[in-house]
Amino acid sequence: MTVLVKVAARIRARGLGVGFAGVLLSAMLLVGCSEEEPPEAEAPLAEQTDTGAMGEVLPSLPVTLECPVPVADPLVIEDIVLEPAEQALAEAPAPAAQIPKLSIIIDDIGHNREAGERVIALPGPVALAIMPFTRNAQALAQLAAAAGKPVMLHLPMENMAGLAIGEGGLNTQMERAGFDAQLQASLNAFSPIQGVNNHMGSKLTADRERMDWLMARLGERKLFFVDSRTTKDTQAAFAAQAKGVASVSRDIFLDNQRNDIDLEREFKLVLARARKQGSAVLIGHPYPETLRFLERRLPELEAKEGVRLVSVQTLLSRAQ
Ligand SMILES: [Zn+2]
Repeated sequence: MTVLVKVAARIRARGLGVGFAGVLLSAMLLVGCSEEEPPEAEAPLAEQTDTGAMGEVLPSLPVTLECPVPVADPLVIEDIVLEPAEQALAEAPAPAAQIPKLSIIIDDIGHNREAGERVIALPGPVALAIMPFTRNAQALAQLAAAAGKPVMLHLPMENMAGLAIGEGGLNTQMERAGFDAQLQASLNAFSPIQGVNNHMGSKLTADRERMDWLMARLGERKLFFVDSRTTKDTQAAFAAQAKGVASVSRDIFLDNQRNDIDLEREFKLVLARARKQGSAVLIGHPYPETLRFLERRLPELEAKEGVRLVSVQTLLSRAQ
């Protein structure tokens, strides 16, 4: 018996296939049994790791080979019954949970109607982050929602550089009443709004107290938050978690440089991040170069890169 098992193990190690080895082993066991060999206590295979057809190391099989072979012998079941299922699994497309996911948000929408409509026309659930009190905010929010695109408020927040942030902005000098009033006005500036992310905000997002105020309101309205991560000191995601607000953080900015080489480099970077983490969040802006790039790259994304474009809501439960 020991010899028979070793022969089968050798065949498996030579890559002839688990199934073939299993069938041979079973045939040999049957022959062995018909010859009424005395049963052996334990096969040496039980202590080995094995090499599968793809070269991966398989775990040791906790099996005792006896003769006659019990019907429920795990080795025989695995070799003969499960092998076709494994084969089928290898041929089937990967389960949805295993396909790397990419979510894209385009910020700073609302000033330019045509650019906004080009974002809405992009394939897949690309989110529009619309600035409050901009001329085309309401029209684009409605068009985007009708097209099934996620719609977010792109909320202006104070930055370290002192750059103008536009109407509806929040800053670190505001006391709670003024902060709340400004926030509610921005949240009411257009509809529908499903979530919020920050425009700039390298100063305000580091202010934990005001992030707590923000998240308290978003929690009441059942809105999600995407931390654009404009500073490494951001407290936004921590505040969101503390208030039970669903959130996720930006991984890569697509278009800090707007030429094809840099766009492609950042895009490759976010795809690599998605493959490594399982998912990633990309933020871009409605520049003509960015829109041309996405119009070219998104239709082929899953077929060419094996990464699936998903809505940002899909990634909200992701650990920060
Ligand atoms: Zn912005």
